[in-house]
Amino acid sequence: MIDTTRLCAEFETMAAIASPSFHEGEIAAYLHARLEQLGASVERDSSAAVTGSESGNIIARIPADRHEGPPLLLSAHLDTVSPAQGVEPLLQAGVFTSAGDTVLGADDKSGIAQILEVVTVLQRESIPHPPLELVFTVCEEVGLLGSKNLDFATLNARHGFVLDTSGVGTVARSAPCANKLKFRIRGRASHAGLDPEHGISAIRIAARGIEHMRLGRIDADTTANLGVIHGGQASNIVPDAVEILGEVRSFSEEGLKHQTDHMCSCLHAAVRHYSANPDFPKVGVECEIIADYPLMNVPEDAPILYALRNAAATLGQQLEVGRSGGGSDANLFNAHGIVTLNLATGMNKVHTSSEYIRVADLESVAALLLECVRNISSTAT
Ligand SMILES: [Zn+2]
Repeated sequence: MIDTTRLCAEFETMAAIASPSFHEGEIAAYLHARLEQLGASVERDSSAAVTGSESGNIIARIPADRHEGPPLLLSAHLDTVSPAQGVEPLLQAGVFTSAGDTVLGADDKSGIAQILEVVTVLQRESIPHPPLELVFTVCEEVGLLGSKNLDFATLNARHGFVLDTSGVGTVARSAPCANKLKFRIRGRASHAGLDPEHGISAIRIAARGIEHMRLGRIDADTTANLGVIHGGQASNIVPDAVEILGEVRSFSEEGLKHQTDHMCSCLHAAVRHYSANPDFPKVGVECEIIADYPLMNVPEDAPILYALRNAAATLGQQLEVGRSGGGSDANLFNAHGIVTLNLATGMNKVHTSSEYIRVADLESVAALLLECVRNISSTAT
């Protein structure tokens, strides 16, 4: 029932509209109009004032058709990473790529196109379905800003899908929670040649702290990294300040806290080591911990996962249920009580100019989603 020509045309049209994060105005206007053509009631929320995007998140509602179940959420994001300006999608031998040096933007326009196609088929074929809540977020690629500022109180969906992972035939039911870390180490400046005795090097404090830190893969659930370090002013000054940026991710909230505490305590210990001298009371470290995104963990026996597995079996498609290494809008939906899976759309090599998606995959994921919605419909009535 999926119309591949229509699906490809929709994808190509949207891919050709550049929409790097914060510049979602044009794609939002296009999609707003398309959703109204499909009979949805469409709103944009007020998140733009906070996110700085040209548009709010789009929330579109389609009433149920002969169905009494709770609303189903379908979501994808409007923005892409850069470079995106002048994007030109190219279809050759059944594969969409970008003609130039930009990303293709299949992340995440493939997901948007699949949602539009499913809605179109439900309506044209008059297939019974629950109420649909379609949410298209802005600024996903710059820290999930759209979904973090979404007013979840306006949503009634209790379960659903985000379409925003790469590959095909996979769905993520869990994803880590994460903290961003900012460490500011204060040493004491002095002239490196004339008065080194009165200096305390913030670089040495940082070095000692980092030397004792567990980093990389901590255990099966947790990873940690220090990604940026800045400090010092000149080779003849004992440096009095270093700033380090890092992160921790974990599939357990306890693991996240434990590793975050460990990293802070390593730096505190290093400070104590170098500031034992009471002449240097101002030496110290400030650990800023920014909660980045919450844990996602859809239970193995969730009805939405059951419906998806059934749909895959009906269509003879392989389905691998796994973990995602990073956060997505699905983390936020789950944290707000909407049991949400993150379904792979078929996109590949995302965030590079070699990004591509096969037409066959664009189509098979749309077919899977459609079958799943039908499955939810038939099990609920
Ligand atoms: Zn994405």
